Amino acid sequence: MPVLTDRFERVHDYLRISVTDRCNLRCLYCMPEEGVEFAPSSDLLSYDHIVEVVEIGASLGISKLRITGGEPLVRPGLDGLVSRLAAIPGIRDISLTTNGVLLADQAEALRRAGVNRVNISLDTLDPTRFRFIARRGDLKRVMDGIEAAARVGFSPIKLNCVLLKGVNEDEIAAFLKMAYEHPLHVRFIEYMPIGHADDNWKNHYLPLTRVLEIAQEQSLDVERLDDIVGNGPSEDYRITGGTGSFGLIHPISDHFCKRCNRLRLTADGNLKPCLYWVDELNVKPALGDPEALRAIYMRAMEIKPLNHEMAAKLAGEAQSHEPTARRMSQIGG
Ligand code: SAM
Ligand code: SF4
Repeated sequence: MPVLTDRFERVHDYLRISVTDRCNLRCLYCMPEEGVEFAPSSDLLSYDHIVEVVEIGASLGISKLRITGGEPLVRPGLDGLVSRLAAIPGIRDISLTTNGVLLADQAEALRRAGVNRVNISLDTLDPTRFRFIARRGDLKRVMDGIEAAARVGFSPIKLNCVLLKGVNEDEIAAFLKMAYEHPLHVRFIEYMPIGHADDNWKNHYLPLTRVLEIAQEQSLDVERLDDIVGNGPSEDYRITGGTGSFGLIHPISDHFCKRCNRLRLTADGNLKPCLYWVDELNVKPALGDPEALRAIYMRAMEIKPLNHEMAAKLAGEAQSHEPTARRMSQIGG
């Protein structure tokens, strides 16, 4: 039995590492309007510490890493961290989730350092709407980042699109067209109440069945892909005759917790067994002590819950436990 197996026989081989809680955007589904208080730099795990935590994870069966944030590309020297992670025995795959704003400048160095795949967040194709959703920044720089990712050879390139009722649902058809015409994988994501279950979430949450309805309205012939594109929880489709593909990530309307294989490491050094709940394990007191770090991974297996309860939250039902107060930018998505 693999070492990182939890009480529900789920094997864990995937660690998402947030390298910073800072970000150059303020997406309305991720951060409150007034922003969040960033952790002081002295609270963040150093790159040496991240390498140490991953080395222990790899010795227990972690083989896949995703670098995320906040916006990971705002932390200086990220390519240096990636090349150190890529050299750890047992690490087979390193991917990155970014908002793309700084990617054009860093794509080549990151690819050379060992990033295999990138997910770039793109919620709209309209520059004015981009400013509304992200509250700052420039869509053109994201598009340049996507182009650079293709140029340096990242494959597959996935675009993360959080669907928001009344905000960007009228662009579903345009995103499907993009998935038809370009060798890209568009991932539609349900808006999750992480660290907030406020009116903004309740008003803008949109179940992803809407995507398949739009595909039907557009008379698109979609086929379900058996092979999952990558290793995520996405339900994947191709539009017959098209070049790319699309996927649905619907944690609320149909959760995928029974297949969960992931742990998360926050930028301030907490191992989170589940994105949704408050529970986290501080790795800092264990740094420098391999046995103590191993014990933290094992404890994460012991306390990992069976599932989140976002659907119950939406239905106004009671929660069995306390949800996290951290926002997505403070966890890493
Ligand atoms: N800054 C990077 C980015 O935006 O890609 C990486 C960090 S971001 C927290 C990771 C992913 O989480 C992004 O694709 C973002 O769209 C998604 N995300 C953030 N808040 C979300 C929410 N409330 N519900 C669903 N997805 C969310
Ligand atoms: Fe920043 Fe990414 Fe959150 Fe947007 S989704 S505010 S880009 S961390």
